[in-house]
Amino acid sequence: MKNIHTKGLAAGGSAALKAAAASAMLLTGLTFSPAFANPLEMDGLKPVYHLYDGEEYLGAVTDKGAVDSLVSAKIAEAQPAFAGMELEADKDFQVIKEQVFKPAVNDEQETLSKVTDSLEVKTPAVALSVNGAVAVHVEDEAAYHETLRELKLAYATPEELAQWEESGDAEEEAELKAGESRITDISIKANLSGKSTQADPEAVMTAKEAAHYLLTGERIYTASDGDSARKIAKTFSLESGRLAEWNNEAEFSKIKEGTKLVVAKDEPRVAVEIEKLQNKAEPVAFQEKKEDDAALLIGKTKVKQQGKKGEKHVTTAILAVNGKAVSEEVVGEETVREPVDKIIAKGTKELPSIGTGRFAWPAEGGYISSERGQRWGRLHNGIDIAQPDGPAIKSADHGVVKAAGAAGTFGNRVIVDHQNGYETIYAHLSSIDVRPGQKVPKGTKLGNMGNTGRSTGVHLHFEVSLDGKTKNPLNYLK
Ligand SMILES: [Zn+2]
Repeated sequence: MKNIHTKGLAAGGSAALKAAAASAMLLTGLTFSPAFANPLEMDGLKPVYHLYDGEEYLGAVTDKGAVDSLVSAKIAEAQPAFAGMELEADKDFQVIKEQVFKPAVNDEQETLSKVTDSLEVKTPAVALSVNGAVAVHVEDEAAYHETLRELKLAYATPEELAQWEESGDAEEEAELKAGESRITDISIKANLSGKSTQADPEAVMTAKEAAHYLLTGERIYTASDGDSARKIAKTFSLESGRLAEWNNEAEFSKIKEGTKLVVAKDEPRVAVEIEKLQNKAEPVAFQEKKEDDAALLIGKTKVKQQGKKGEKHVTTAILAVNGKAVSEEVVGEETVREPVDKIIAKGTKELPSIGTGRFAWPAEGGYISSERGQRWGRLHNGIDIAQPDGPAIKSADHGVVKAAGAAGTFGNRVIVDHQNGYETIYAHLSSIDVRPGQKVPKGTKLGNMGNTGRSTGVHLHFEVSLDGKTKNPLNYLK
């Protein structure tokens, strides 16, 4: 749906503008049309011209030609500064003709010099009002409409704007393709209206300047040949120092024709709200799935199928005020390509000589009498298990006996290589039931618990290592 309100506003402004323009022309005709021969003059009546500046009476003259040439001279004097602009006398300046029998006019020269002082040179312009208060002046009705367009173009491309204007009120819109966007509404958040009037020539802005000013409060002035900081400050009634404060030094210190300068900083008057639909292609993540594989040894994994991202087209409704998104909402989502799962095969096949990576308690019950850690000034590399329910010491996981026999302070010791990086050590045994090279599936009896080697009582010393580094067995015996 379009915002009818905004479009209606522009149309309304246009009608009011035409009416105002018509009445202004009428006034011009009355004031400045050449005097027609008046039959009354035949009867000895002479014309006197009373001159007013608004309410103020300046005096009367009999020589209308002197007034006209004074006005022309004033306009001609001002013209070079406003090349291409139509200049005219302030409409407050009025000449009222009176017919009298005997003109009694005071010092005409003095009256004319008053005119010289008070007469202001103006240009026909359109005053653009925001919520009823005049905000800027632009050249004419076309510039007024151009300003409204520039307000919209500040945050939309010409293509987007054209598409929106052409779409009318059609409910059915073509579906957006990935990467496309479309404006669904543009509204100017203020009541704008235009009225024909006169303005100081320097107050008139181009449509682009006017739109920028309304949106930001910043007036940009483009310097012309012969401009100086002082002259510009005077034209825009700026306190000294303001220009330097508002403009970067490089520009300010070298003002030449075309230099753009900030000459006003006011409050922004207008906000432009744009609603947009945007379609974007987005990736869809794939899932990772694990599958048991009886052909693969326990502890081994294998990628059975590579994952592939999918794609979806997401339509988002975006509301932006002065180009800044203030809300975004996903209004549609279409999956155009489903993702492909990544499948990882996980081995379940057990071999009596190859460890599963999961360890069983290596004794018949019992409790941990000493944990791994510093003890008597050196590292106790394993745990001690004592007070078992029975004497049997068992292989904690599938493996092959690497060593079996007396080994110094370990006493009778068995080392099992689980052939998956892990080794376990069982020490202080009273007797050994296995020999090197023997396959020992998990739970195989390796011997009996004892007190051989450096030991202060019957217990099992148990170590776990991975790739040659000892680990805390408590992390594995769960
Ligand atoms: Zn120990």
